[in-house]
Amino acid sequence: MERMIRFGFIPMILLAAVPACRGTESGRRAGTHPDSGGTAMTKNIRWLGHAGFVIRGSRTVCVDPYRVSTGEPAGLILITHEHGDHCSPDDAAKFTGPGTWIVAPAAAAAKLARLAGNPERVKTVKPGDTLTLDGVEIRAVPAYNLKIPNHSPDKGHVGYVFRLDGVTYYHAGDTDRIPEMRGIRADVAFLPAGGTYTMNAKEAAEAAEDIGPRLAVPMHWGSVVGSEKDALEFKNRFKGEVWIPTLQE
Ligand SMILES: [Zn+2]
Repeated sequence: MERMIRFGFIPMILLAAVPACRGTESGRRAGTHPDSGGTAMTKNIRWLGHAGFVIRGSRTVCVDPYRVSTGEPAGLILITHEHGDHCSPDDAAKFTGPGTWIVAPAAAAAKLARLAGNPERVKTVKPGDTLTLDGVEIRAVPAYNLKIPNHSPDKGHVGYVFRLDGVTYYHAGDTDRIPEMRGIRADVAFLPAGGTYTMNAKEAAEAAEDIGPRLAVPMHWGSVVGSEKDALEFKNRFKGEVWIPTLQE
């Protein structure tokens, strides 16, 4: 049990006793939008646009960099799947140094193999796999569509639950609201809300209720699909704390 919780998972039977909590407004971070929200938990998080984020701590973790102007050295790069707006070798290269680990499902790992210099620094994962790299606990979790074929369950696309400096993060990847989410616990949840290829804002807010994070962050909008309107709808619908990220170059 203890190990399951450390990895961000709790048995579904316990979930009914874990309400989505609402944070205070005191830690609000200034954003370009007056209703952007945010808490002290966002100070180490850089949104790269679309589904790309950097989390800075004792290690720097970068997820799905895409159309990034300025990179920074990362200890880990986590790629959710092989589609070009998530697995961009040119953008991943901006975060790759000699000590960088790259984690990705097989189809994406094949595109990124040349980046790390050493093939052993590219770790291939499938849903359900766990690994620890440089002290960061990582679990690859399912990510798939329920009705459209773009991200069908057989493709092995993933989201990631990872624990960095005592905080558990969940980056959902490209996914619909799937039953497995009810077994995921995270302090910070990055959830696609732009619709078309993923959950829309309403579905993402329902997924956030399933997960009950301390902070929910709508993503997958403002670039390929979706707009700030979707992010605001997500914020209006979810009862917990929401941070609408702003681009940081
Ligand atoms: Zn995709």
